[in-house]
Amino acid sequence: MATEERGILVLGAGYAGLSFAHAARRAGRGRFPVTVVDRHPFHVLRTELYEVGEIARDPEHLDAWAVPFTQALDDPALGQIVGEVESIDLERHCVRVSGEEVPYGALAICLGSVPAYYGVPGAEAETHQVYRMAGARRLGAALRQLEIESASWTDLRRPEVVVIGGGSTGTEVAAEIATVDWPTIVGVAAREPHVRLVTGKIPFLDGMPEGLVRHARRLLVKSGVELIEGLNVERVEPKVAHLEGGMRLPFDLAIWCAGVQVPPIVRALPTAHGRAGRLAVDEHLELPQWPGVFGVGDVIEFKDPATGMLVPATAQAALAEAPVAGRNAVARLQRKALQPFRYREKGVIVSVGVGRGAGRVAKVTVWGSPAALLAALQQKEYARRVRHGR
Ligand SMILES: Cc1cc2nc3c(=O)[nH]c(=O)nc-3n(C[C@H](O)[C@H](O)[C@H](O)COP(=O)(O)OP(=O)(O)OC[C@H]3O[C@@H](n4cnc5c(N)ncnc54)[C@H](O)[C@@H]3O)c2cc1C
Repeated sequence: MATEERGILVLGAGYAGLSFAHAARRAGRGRFPVTVVDRHPFHVLRTELYEVGEIARDPEHLDAWAVPFTQALDDPALGQIVGEVESIDLERHCVRVSGEEVPYGALAICLGSVPAYYGVPGAEAETHQVYRMAGARRLGAALRQLEIESASWTDLRRPEVVVIGGGSTGTEVAAEIATVDWPTIVGVAAREPHVRLVTGKIPFLDGMPEGLVRHARRLLVKSGVELIEGLNVERVEPKVAHLEGGMRLPFDLAIWCAGVQVPPIVRALPTAHGRAGRLAVDEHLELPQWPGVFGVGDVIEFKDPATGMLVPATAQAALAEAPVAGRNAVARLQRKALQPFRYREKGVIVSVGVGRGAGRVAKVTVWGSPAALLAALQQKEYARRVRHGR
């Protein structure tokens, strides 16, 4: 089969994959089949999974964060395969999906990221996570149960929640749990959780603008979140986290937000890798030794040569990269010149509790409810992009 006839295969229907697929469809004008593969028949609005109060209130609410393929891929030019990507054979130009071999002419690897536990004993087994929908669902149910039980405790203690990781995900999750109005969800006798955020050795909100960090810290403290900085978690046992230097943090519930890495099948690819196994791509977002194979989103490491900035692993970056990579995949099949990717950050906003946020947008620091409003608008924009492809 000719390379063009094999068409373009897109692995992953996240922010990167869907946006890539729509861009390739538009650029190819129907000449090349574009097929999206994902283990779910829907896209997960992953940037909203920190809203665990909503999940605890109504576990069915998760449906609001799943955009079905009937909406996201509503175009006859886009094919779909629901299945597990098991391996990628770059030599033979094919991918194994749930036991079947699927050939490709051009390939987009958009498989996102999975939690990184850095070999910390007990971390994976004893903590929750919000990086995947199933994890967010389990966390919401566990929080709800903990709050219900707290109403019948005979001593005076509050539910102890430990959040591990002081980046944006940890900050958003800790602030959300501390500011949710639990009595309206589970009953008036529910006790306010005591939330501790362990930032580890990496500085709190490392790499974020100074004004954002200052306001986020102030809002967290105002919400009653206790920050524990400068100490890494060494091991996690049932109901207790052990920090460097012998400090023990007993908990009823712990959440791991300490970072992500690429999925194992991406790490196994015979190509150059950066931090956390990310695929090193060139300025066309193509794997250097593998023409026609592109990486987009959380799976890649790319330093913009114009700014020297390492492009972050965010939905915002994935949505910026994907249209360029999608057009380049078509150009590769048409033997035309590829265009370089340049990254310009539109701004950064972190939610810091229900109805509050901190951010830096258009060189202006914003905080409180205006920042929360901007964050909500940004989420709507991400959802619109995956629904309509632009
Ligand atoms: C709680 C939280 C809040 C966040 N908030 C923000 C924010 O406000 N702004 C922002 O810009 N970013 C935010 N991020 C980061 C953002 O979610 C990610 O950077 C973004 O999802 C990356 O997009 P992606 O398409 O690369 O990966 P994903 O969106 O994770 O998509 C990967 C897709 O691949 C599929 N997949 C993976 N492996 C397989 C397999 N083996 N077989 C089949 N399918 C597979 C998955 O099902 C998924 O659909 C947040 C992340 C989290 C966890």
